[in-house]
Amino acid sequence: MSTTPGGYPLPLQGKALTDTPVVVKEEGASLEEYPERFVPHREELGADEMRITCCGSGNPIVRKGQAAASWLVELGNGDKFIFDVGGGSVQNLWSLEIPPAELDKLFLTHLHLDHVGDLHVLFDAMGWARNTPLRIWGPSGYTKEMGTAYLVDCMEKAATWHVESKRGLVPSSGAKMIAHEFDAEERSLVVYEENGVKITSYAVVHCIYGARGYRLDWNGLSMSFAGDGSPSTFEAEQSKGVDVFIHESFMTAEVFSQKVGLPLEQARNVAGEHTTPDRLGQVFGIAAPKLGVGYHYFLDDDTVDLFFEGVGSTYDGPIALAQDLMVISVTPEQIVTRMAETKALHWPPVPEKPDRPPEMASPSEAEIPEWLLDTVIDSLTPGRRA
Ligand SMILES: [Zn+2]
Ligand SMILES: [Zn+2]
Repeated sequence: MSTTPGGYPLPLQGKALTDTPVVVKEEGASLEEYPERFVPHREELGADEMRITCCGSGNPIVRKGQAAASWLVELGNGDKFIFDVGGGSVQNLWSLEIPPAELDKLFLTHLHLDHVGDLHVLFDAMGWARNTPLRIWGPSGYTKEMGTAYLVDCMEKAATWHVESKRGLVPSSGAKMIAHEFDAEERSLVVYEENGVKITSYAVVHCIYGARGYRLDWNGLSMSFAGDGSPSTFEAEQSKGVDVFIHESFMTAEVFSQKVGLPLEQARNVAGEHTTPDRLGQVFGIAAPKLGVGYHYFLDDDTVDLFFEGVGSTYDGPIALAQDLMVISVTPEQIVTRMAETKALHWPPVPEKPDRPPEMASPSEAEIPEWLLDTVIDSLTPGRRA
């Protein structure tokens, strides 16, 4: 395998970018050995285990090898939570072959498009198999129009033709979004508490009012996802001692300017709203997670070393740099980081039979004109227009 001059694997070679693929939490405990790669269906999630999968390690510049921001957290009690849903991330999410009915809870850190760009894709794809509304948590805004409920309402309205067109064809119970907007005025507050899972939202510093991070606690395990932003002591305190602290990282203004051809001054404006690797090390130093993870970074053959050198200049704890489909398995004894191996042409699992029959709406009144229907070519197989 090819490596960087610093000895790290090159991105997208199927190997996690980390010096510490195994972080031992409990010295002397017997450690379960995991397969080299995570393969859907081949590995049961333990009853006391948390699995965190990166569905989008990138940023607004969506690339073939790097979707925009999104993370999936699966818990041993069966619960699943999606954090942000950036462009391109849903194809990674579906490739994990999880029944759509289990993917109905989404938490948004902030409403930048690189964190919500695939919301319609998540809403649509297999919505009939989800069979329940998509529930979306997120912050209020400085004005009503800058809040999560407004975004969800507009997204739902924008899908009017789409939803109408499917009425009476497939079950419609999944064709609904429900916003759970919480007050961003609260510095930190519990926004979800069910089934032993507690999710706390905390304020972060990012561009304007209202950006948040989330900390999830369950069964003595914990993770914190800070979304985007400049590093702050507040988010570090909120994430203190978690098993996994996922924080954005951005290349330095100089490298960003060179890579994308932006004048240095503007590159500095952009980088200033984010977290360069040396500052990431500082925030990890205060939060002291068992594993610190950088994401939102521009992966490239010549940027990986810059990340590890930068973080390493201010921090010496275990760190990893996220790629799409990096998997972090967290148990009371250890934290194991590796890559998933998923199919490019996967099918989602066949949905289980729902408890109650799915709701079928009456067909839309927006019918195609008679004259146009009369021109439909007869089919030899039975179907709606046959
Ligand atoms: Zn972002
Ligand atoms: Zn952002």
